[in-house]
Amino acid sequence: MEVILQNLTKRFPNRDRKKREDVIAVKNFTLEIPDGKLIGLLGPSGCGKSTALNLISGLIKPTYGKIFFGENDVTDLPPENRGIGLVFQNYALYPHLTVKQNILFPLQNLKGKDRPSKSEMLEKAMEAAKLVQIDELMDRKPGELSGGQQQRVAIARALVKRPGVLLLDEPLSNLDARLRLQTREEIRRIQKETNITTIFVTHDQEEAMSISDLIVVMKDGIVQQTGKPQEVYDNPDNLFVARFLGTPPINVFEGHIRDQRLYIGDDAVLDVKGLSDRSVYVGIRPEGFLLQENGPLRCEPGGVEVMGRDISIVSRNKASLNPAIRSIIGADSHIDTSGPIIKFALVPRKVFLFDHETEERLETGL
Ligand code: ADP
Ligand code: MG
Repeated sequence: MEVILQNLTKRFPNRDRKKREDVIAVKNFTLEIPDGKLIGLLGPSGCGKSTALNLISGLIKPTYGKIFFGENDVTDLPPENRGIGLVFQNYALYPHLTVKQNILFPLQNLKGKDRPSKSEMLEKAMEAAKLVQIDELMDRKPGELSGGQQQRVAIARALVKRPGVLLLDEPLSNLDARLRLQTREEIRRIQKETNITTIFVTHDQEEAMSISDLIVVMKDGIVQQTGKPQEVYDNPDNLFVARFLGTPPINVFEGHIRDQRLYIGDDAVLDVKGLSDRSVYVGIRPEGFLLQENGPLRCEPGGVEVMGRDISIVSRNKASLNPAIRSIIGADSHIDTSGPIIKFALVPRKVFLFDHETEERLETGL
């Protein structure tokens, strides 16, 4: 099912009575989600992700804007008539029902001609359970399952009616790191097998980047950028997006342009085209540094962090906004950090410049 959002806006009256201004939780959210894709809706806590998802599910009504599922305007439809499946962080299973009964529940709620026969219901429940690999656990109660298994039950329950759209709100946040990794791959597999258009909300950039066809980065209720994960990582539209994506995070420096050259402190690090003299923020991805004897960027070495395949050099520079600069190089490189300074050359396509006022990306020809 294709999902189209047009200028979706949600205003809440402010809970703090002293402040009169309303909270605009989601503002002018416009997006076309192609059929069968997995969308990662990504941003820090409070940026409006759950509100956006709840608008799509129909749990809340927009102040303004429209939602289409395919050709159908569903803006005024209640959630139960939208053909959606919902999964939340806290699983929200019925504790007194078995796994089987939990999964059957949405089918038993169907009325009239939509209601399958008893044997059809069992068949559908079993099919959903198999898909998420919990068919062996059908007679247990949720309390007898691990967190990861409970979340699988919740996913099976969301899938049992074969929804046109699957909506997941931070579904992995209650799981430990290892299970999170495993379950996100499971979700991707299930999504590919069923080909259900899926919107996956998370504050974890790595999670969103790793499983999404498209990511949507939000801040303060406003969509900052939409695109394939790698494209957004390689071409951030503004400083916020650049900083939000990537581990270790991008290194940001105060810089300036003089005579078509980019300076960090007194070091002329790159030639840039088409920019007048001005102050800029310079973002350099950790993989954008090359150790070089006569490299133009001089930093003060602070140590080395070995992370298996890669080595991260920690260093400092007065112009850096991050307290420590992290640059990643292959584990086989020879590194001498014993001297008072360490010199880097920069990989131009890993360097982004941002306007000092608007923080928008500047075109540099790099
Ligand atoms: P996220 O899911 O990204 O953490 P939310 O969508 O939950 O963010 O919230 C976005 C903003 O809207 C926050 O500032 C939050 O306090 C506010 N908000 C959410 N729900 C309500 C509500 N029912 N009433 C008032 N403000 C709300
Ligand atoms: Mg939320």
